[in-house]
Amino acid sequence: MTNGTKPRLRFAPSPTGYLHVGGARTALFNWLYARKFDGEFLLRIEDTDKARSTDESTRAIFDGLEWLGLNWDDGVVYQGANLARHQADARKLLETGAVYRCFCTPAELEERRREATARNEAFKYDRRCDRLSREEVERRVAAGEPYVIRFRVPEGTTEWNDLVHERIAFPNKDIDDFVILRSDATPIYNLAVVSDDIAMGITVVMRGDDHISNTPKQIQLYRALGAPLPTFAHLPMIHGLDGKKLSKRHGATAVGDYQHYGLLPGAMLNFLALLGWSPGGDREVMTMPEMIELFSVDGLQKKAAIFDPKKLEWMNGQHLSMIPLEELEPRVTPAIITARLATEEELVERRDWYFRLLDLLRVRSRTTDDIVRQAGPYFLEDIEYDPMAVAKNWKDPEEAADLLRASREALAGTTAWESGPLEASLRGLAESRGVSAGKIFQPLRVALTGLTVSPGIFEILVQMGRDLSLKRIDKALVALKR
Ligand code: GLU
Repeated sequence: MTNGTKPRLRFAPSPTGYLHVGGARTALFNWLYARKFDGEFLLRIEDTDKARSTDESTRAIFDGLEWLGLNWDDGVVYQGANLARHQADARKLLETGAVYRCFCTPAELEERRREATARNEAFKYDRRCDRLSREEVERRVAAGEPYVIRFRVPEGTTEWNDLVHERIAFPNKDIDDFVILRSDATPIYNLAVVSDDIAMGITVVMRGDDHISNTPKQIQLYRALGAPLPTFAHLPMIHGLDGKKLSKRHGATAVGDYQHYGLLPGAMLNFLALLGWSPGGDREVMTMPEMIELFSVDGLQKKAAIFDPKKLEWMNGQHLSMIPLEELEPRVTPAIITARLATEEELVERRDWYFRLLDLLRVRSRTTDDIVRQAGPYFLEDIEYDPMAVAKNWKDPEEAADLLRASREALAGTTAWESGPLEASLRGLAESRGVSAGKIFQPLRVALTGLTVSPGIFEILVQMGRDLSLKRIDKALVALKR
């Protein structure tokens, strides 16, 4: 927070592709900061690169942010609409003398760059156009010679106190007299960003640390334009498990992909929040209100964050178990209907039963797909037996059939179809047979669900009900005869 005023932050994506997880992470941190410190979170679409910006990409950014619930304050700012101000700022700098016109052509610059390389030197613009006399500049402008506008970087050092990296300093001699306006009078990124951030009253600039080298130039521009400096925060890069910068090679990197996989937005946000921030201790699973509560600048990290898709899946499982059933239901139901397990009417009719089922299945699920996969046996007449489950728990078909017959008898004779009495019956059977309870439960689990992973056996029996459970065992006995 600067000057005791409310912080104003922005997310400023270029609409040249889909909303990337790295972009979403940056948006989230800006959002968290704004919400935590009672500030504003603004959205600016940096569409100055007309050739690469697309409406489709802008829409993907809106969709992704909306899906995640990262709502922005005020209307969207389109950078391209601010061209006149960018040019006015460049003119202002010409008037104060902070910048100068450069008539060197791209071909000339390229030639000098080549010569520098041949001498084994780093190329730096030699400021020759800054030494032109005012008359000559005026003559060349009047003659219609094209020029760019360059910033005259002063001597000294440019430094700032980064919220993440603490003090960062750049010797100005390493900063080239950078161009701020092209010969077609369009602004270069650094000018457009600074001009917009000043106009939008941005007090905290939080972005990826791939922008660190732009920051000294931007600081110079703020000073030359007579504007107060914002606070800068440069977030660590996101790497894949192999330690390389996250890219398509690592799998899905577009937020939209995860949305369509049926991931919970709360899980995605929680996962993204841990890419460069830690709430302290070993706390990991958090809801959005908890993240706002716990967010602090001290928890921001310098070192690259690792994007581990397995962790994202795990996180989704945690959130699946945590969210209210009313919220979970609409995320699962369409898939249940598509899988033809039930119609919408049937689900409405058995709402309480259906909610209990969701509650039962979500515990062992990492995705909504997992829930749907496990749900089949509770709806369908016939099930398929997972060959792994068969190999493991019906290894000896005769023995399995024998135990299943005995289990069926014990279950059918249980007066109340409830967890306690059913458990007493099956444990009694195990005892009378002199076998472990597992020996009875495992073949029964396969008979009932066809799966190796499922809820506890009594939970399954109660959820399936007496008729379906007994029918399942009968069908298993037929299958075991084959
Ligand atoms: N459009 C820039 C980007 O997407 C914004 C950088 C900034 O936040 O200043 O990287």
